Amino acid sequence: MAFFLNKEQVREQVKQRLKDNGYRVTSQRLAIVELLFDLEHPTADEIYQSLTSEFSNMSLATVYNTLHSLENIGTVRGFSCGEKCFRYELYQENHHHLICNECSKIVDIFLETCIDTAKVAEQTGFKNVTESVEFRGICAECADKLSAPAE
Ligand SMILES: [Zn+2]
Ligand SMILES: [Zn+2]
Repeated sequence: MAFFLNKEQVREQVKQRLKDNGYRVTSQRLAIVELLFDLEHPTADEIYQSLTSEFSNMSLATVYNTLHSLENIGTVRGFSCGEKCFRYELYQENHHHLICNECSKIVDIFLETCIDTAKVAEQTGFKNVTESVEFRGICAECADKLSAPAE
C-alpha cells in the first residue's frame, strides 16, 4: 500500500494528534502505529503477537484499546472482512477493499468515486468519518487453481 507519509512523518503526525486529543504519547501506542505501517491489514491478534516480546506487560485488551484510540484520532481504520474477521490499517488515503472469496487475500483499490467523507461529517456532525466498502471476488491465483483439473 502506498503511503503519502513515510514512517517518521506518520510518527510525528500521530504524536501531534494524540496530544491534540488529550491522549498520552506512549511507546506502546507508537509501536502499534509503526507496526501498522509495516503490516498490511493485520488483525488485533497479529499486532499483539508481534509486540508481546517487546512489551511483556501488554495485553490483547491494551491492543484493542490502543486501536480504538487511534481510530478516534483518525489514524487507524478498522474494517470487517467477513464472518469473525476484523482487521486494522493505517488510514491515510480513502480506499476500498477487494477480498478474495477463496483465500481471503485483501487488495487495496483506489477508485475515483469515493464518497466525500468530509461532507458526511459536515452533514452529521460526526468526526473522523471513514468509509468502508467491501468488494468481493476470486483472485487470479485462486481462479487458476479452481479451473485446473482435479488431480
Ligand atoms: Zn484468492
Ligand atoms: Zn486497506
